[in-house]
Amino acid sequence: MPFHSLGLDPSLVRAATEKGYLAPTAIQVEAIPAILQGRDLLGAARTGSGKTAAFSLPLLQRLAAAGRQAPRRLQVLVLVPTRELAAQVGESMRSLAQHLPVPVRIAVAFGGVSINPQMMALRGGADIMVATPGRLLDLLDHRALRLSSVSTLVLDEADRLFDLGFAEELGRILALLPERRQNLLFSATFPPAIQSLAERLLRDPVRVEVEGEPAGEPPAIQQRAIEVDAGRRTQLLRQLVKGSGWTRVLVFVATKHGAEVVADKLRRAGVEAEPFHGVLSQGKRTQVLADFKASRVQVVVATDLAARGIDVAQLPVVVNYDLPRSAVDYVHRIGRTGRAGETGVAVSFVSADSEAHFRLIEKRQGLNVPRERVAGFEPVEAPPPAPAGEPGTGGIKGKRPSKKDKLRALQAGAGTPKPER
Ligand code: AMP
Repeated sequence: MPFHSLGLDPSLVRAATEKGYLAPTAIQVEAIPAILQGRDLLGAARTGSGKTAAFSLPLLQRLAAAGRQAPRRLQVLVLVPTRELAAQVGESMRSLAQHLPVPVRIAVAFGGVSINPQMMALRGGADIMVATPGRLLDLLDHRALRLSSVSTLVLDEADRLFDLGFAEELGRILALLPERRQNLLFSATFPPAIQSLAERLLRDPVRVEVEGEPAGEPPAIQQRAIEVDAGRRTQLLRQLVKGSGWTRVLVFVATKHGAEVVADKLRRAGVEAEPFHGVLSQGKRTQVLADFKASRVQVVVATDLAARGIDVAQLPVVVNYDLPRSAVDYVHRIGRTGRAGETGVAVSFVSADSEAHFRLIEKRQGLNVPRERVAGFEPVEAPPPAPAGEPGTGGIKGKRPSKKDKLRALQAGAGTPKPER
């Protein structure tokens, strides 16, 4: 089905085509007409489904159709969990809006950088605001904008907004919005908090569900699990990066320190690698992402939090150097590859002491990923013995201790908890 048959303005179809979007994705086919009609929408979709354009195109069209407003009033508010996602959504909306007959002004705001330029950018008003909740509240405190004329609210990656502790900020923002408005909620997962938010927020919503790839096509992400001893993972990674022809690799590790160490070792082996984590300045993070996109950097070694929302077109390989803590994180990580119909590979390193944890992830996701071994890296370590009193629990032995676990260990006088890597 071509884009123009969805009722979109030719100027938007042209912009989409110039971005290389030749046909709408599954979520776009369903969501665009519903949003154009002003309906509320519940989108079960992960990053990679094309959800940004699914809400941007119809909202831009409705703004353009409403014509030029004087003074400019904020009409669309898009809330996102991370600065990276805010920047990406803003960028994507601007490029889709570029040929509209009526200019649409899109403001982007996120924390971690000075608020002043963001306040300056709001002088003269904006039609669309893409923001993280905390910074939006700061801007409201500074009276840099008002929400009283917002007619559409978009919650993007709503589950992440909650994971990152934005529930309270969200409540405060919702209280400032006009009651009558269109609400669009996108989320990859639907834990109880998101279900109840959806029930409170949405009126007779159109439900759009796209889990992974468009129906009928085989899953675009090939999942692999390689058995390797924990101490040899960096060497194996180096060999795979150098020997497999992987052009652009996103490697996930559990800690900032791990990101630094692994990137450093790869660099010393002659691989262009950079760490990517929350302690780096915003400027450095932007630079690493730009270098990654421009292929000046081959491997980015990231923590989950920093990597959230990274949208790099053509990201063929994701490596779980450290396994994710939860099955949900696993889905988010591997969702970084295989976007919009492209094929991707997600490789997980599984060692003797993380095997049980990987089995748990597989069970939660209904997966069965065959174990592979790479010649020269066959594991020799045996799985750790089951803890006394818990014979054969087999479940979460590979799990790192949570904050609560560590506190309990300390309180029980069990000595220093295992330090984070
Ligand atoms: P999103 O789910 O919004 O993060 O989009 C995932 C990726 O798909 C982005 O890199 C988009 O640029 C790309 N994309 C979105 N819509 C289409 C489309 N109709 N055809 C091809 N690529 C698309």
